Amino acid sequence: MAGKILIILDFDRTLIEDDSDRWVLTNMGLTNPFYQLQSTLPWNSLMDRMLEELHLQGKTVNDIAVCLQQVPLHTRMIEVTKTAHALGCDLKVVSDSNAFYIRTILEHYGIYNCFSEIITNPTVVDDRGRLRIFPYHDMASPHSCDHCPPNLCKGSVIEQIQSSISESQRKRLIYVGDGRNDFCPTLKLEAGDFVMPRMNFPLFDCILNNPTLVKAKVHKWSNWEELATILHELINNISNEEEIKCLTGYQLNSLECKEAPESANEPLNVVTD
Ligand SMILES: [Mg+2]
Ligand SMILES: [Zn+2]
Repeated sequence: MAGKILIILDFDRTLIEDDSDRWVLTNMGLTNPFYQLQSTLPWNSLMDRMLEELHLQGKTVNDIAVCLQQVPLHTRMIEVTKTAHALGCDLKVVSDSNAFYIRTILEHYGIYNCFSEIITNPTVVDDRGRLRIFPYHDMASPHSCDHCPPNLCKGSVIEQIQSSISESQRKRLIYVGDGRNDFCPTLKLEAGDFVMPRMNFPLFDCILNNPTLVKAKVHKWSNWEELATILHELINNISNEEEIKCLTGYQLNSLECKEAPESANEPLNVVTD
């Protein structure tokens, strides 16, 4: 019944412990050019410009990969990702980082193949051997969301995912994030879904300040140990609940039961904090 579960994870400071852009900037000596250009370019273009800087300094794509392989990823997150995948959950990353950084890090930790999709800013290595980052949304046909940066509205990504799943295949969504840009997708979640904000980070504050706007059940976390434990529990509880639903549906259809088993109507018994 874990096949009924879709887990969507933000990447920076959620799946990994640091911010991948910040990691490359600080560990590859880009702090000065970053501060010089910070106010002149939107984030997405600025990161692409920083990669031009690295290329001019003679740094290769492989040098960037080696730097990214040092990014810490908590062992419990590796474990829970592998378990969720093995149980049949669908896992996706939705991130404002970029395809090269995310793939490099997840492959390094051996969990890239656990994800069915990485939805993020695309990258290419051009004919000069320089890594380029492009916006996720086509700038010629911008998204209409006022809350998100022009290159990526995570809310519209969630809507696309939701509309691509037929009613009979409907999945229970678990969204995990920390940033302000994780609030837009949070608002797209439905009752029966879950949002897991990182405690005392912007998403957590947005939810706290707008509790009536959020339909999903909220489970906060403050470290990766806790995040992995809650994810495990949610997967178990949702699986059990879906099994009961299925069994109840089967009994109602084929055995003409007049009443569903009592447990089918019990609320989810989830431990949060
Ligand atoms: Mg983040
Ligand atoms: Zn948005």
